[in-house]
Parts: sequence; C-alpha cells; structure tokens
Amino acid sequence: MALEDAKSQVDLAFTARSNRGLAFENAFGGATSFLRRRYSKDLAGVDLAITGVPFDQAVTHRPGTRFGPRAIREASSLQPYDPPHGWPTNPLEELDIVDYGDLAFDYAMTPAFPQMLTDHIAGILAAGAGTVTLGGDHFITLPILRAYAAKYGPLGVIHFDAHSDLWVDDDFTRIDHGTFMYKAVKQGLVDPARSVQIGIRTTTEDYLGFNVITAREVHEKGPAWATATARDIVGDRPTYLTFDIDALDPAFAPGTGTPVWGGLHSWQAAAMLRDLAGINLVGGDVVEVSPPYDTTGATAIAGAHVAYELICLYHWARTQR
Ligand code: MN
Ligand code: MN
Repeated sequence: MALEDAKSQVDLAFTARSNRGLAFENAFGGATSFLRRRYSKDLAGVDLAITGVPFDQAVTHRPGTRFGPRAIREASSLQPYDPPHGWPTNPLEELDIVDYGDLAFDYAMTPAFPQMLTDHIAGILAAGAGTVTLGGDHFITLPILRAYAAKYGPLGVIHFDAHSDLWVDDDFTRIDHGTFMYKAVKQGLVDPARSVQIGIRTTTEDYLGFNVITAREVHEKGPAWATATARDIVGDRPTYLTFDIDALDPAFAPGTGTPVWGGLHSWQAAAMLRDLAGINLVGGDVVEVSPPYDTTGATAIAGAHVAYELICLYHWARTQR
C-alpha cells in the first residue's frame, strides 16, 4: 500500500482529503507541512493544530530561530510513513490534525507581537483544538501560556531547558527569552509548585518555587527516575510542556542560540517524553531551533521528533487516561 500510494501522493500539505492518516509521499519532494498534515485554517472537528511562530527578536545571543518552523517542517517529512515508534497508539490515524500555518505579524512592531500571539492561540483553543507550536525563540511561550491560563487557570508546566529562563531583571515590558518564565510565574500563569524544569545546567539565584531536575541528575539517576519525579509533580492537573531544544547537549542540537555543554542526550529526551504518557497534556511547544547554526541538520530533526512526541502525549491524554 505504501509504495503504491507513493506513486500518486504529492503535495499532501494541500491535496490531502482527510486530516487523518499516514502519508507516503516521497520524503524528499513536495510541499512541506508538519508531518504532511493538511494546511488549513478550518478548525471544525480539529483535535490538534500545529502552528509555527517564526519570531527571534527576543534572543540574548545568536538569532536564527525565525527559520525554525520551516526547518522543523522539512525535517518532519521523513516521519509520517509509520506509526510513532514505542507508542501503542497512532495519533495520525486517530486524531484530526492540521498544520494551521504560521502566525502573521509585523516584524518591526515587536511590542504588538505578544498580544497577537496570545490571540492566535486563544482562537485555536476557543475552537476546541489544542496546539503544538514550532518556535521561534523561547519568549513565544509566554504569550502562549497567557492563552492557556485564560482557559485552564494556573498551569502545571514541564519545562525542558539548559536555562531556567527565570532571570529577574525584568520590568514586565521587556521582550526577552531569558525572563519569560519569571513573568509567567509572577503573573500567575504557572503554578511553580506543580511545575518542573528538567535539564538545567546554568545558575539561577531564585527558582521561584519551581521544582528542578538538573541535567546531571538525569545522567546520574536516569531518565526513568526523572520522569517518575516529573509525573508526581504535575499530577493530574492540566499541564503544558515546553521544550527548549538547548535542553539537549550541543552534540545533539548544535543549532541553537545559547548552547551549554553537559546536556541531555537525545535518547534520554526520547525516553522521558514517551514515559510521560498519562499526564494531562493540554498543549506544548518546541523552541530555539536555529537553522543557521544547525550545521548537520540534527537540531531540526530533534525538534521534529520532540513535536511528534508532543502529539503522541496529547493524543494519549485525550484517549487513554
Ligand atoms: Mn535555553
Ligand atoms: Mn529557554
């Protein structure tokens, strides 16, 4: 069936007749969308919308994540042939998923950007769908969390990162990827006691009550321990998962703005994301993929895998819990 379909399927991003199903289009050709899902602004009946936010104006160091959504979509073209490995279910067959395209914004009107993104996500949530967002630098998670907290109240968050993003030199008007979580906690969007940061290996003076699992603890105690700990922390409450790709070691994800050694190996991240099945995931994102620094393409590949695992976790939360 797959080979026969490969002879006729092309440009499924536009030609797909359904929002479900595996895709056998040649990985190397055709129009790219995330996992070859149909590009659509029609959210009727849609369970999950994939959306890109090509914004990198908030970085402290190397830019380039504005090219992240496009690179992650392209990397994902190798993935939709098969059910996701390691999962007993297949969200591509069982959920209506569309690629909702990117957020449109004026790159020169940065102060207007946060509200535009909050409105973008809120519109999707109001239609009854969840979101998996492809970044973009990590600032984008703050406007997204505003939309989610408006729907669900203060959220539990699982935050993979080398950095806490809790820097405190912030007056709440700055647009900075290093302070977004500080603002999210101070503004009551996130309940830090029910949240956890994983992969941390930079200094933070005040974690504001967040639970923290350092990268070294993952290495020494193992990903199974880290996952069990994270599951206990978030419990059954609505949980958002944000994955800064620099949680991974630069050996696995060199294409990012602020790389730090000693990070997670890709197998550890894969095992942890799979073993989080059962959390009440309401949405997620993968951010900080910077293709200009991604000399091997490995970072975009990792980003595509993380986003696919988020879809699996979302599917599990909707159907198996
Ligand atoms: Mn980071
Ligand atoms: Mn970050």
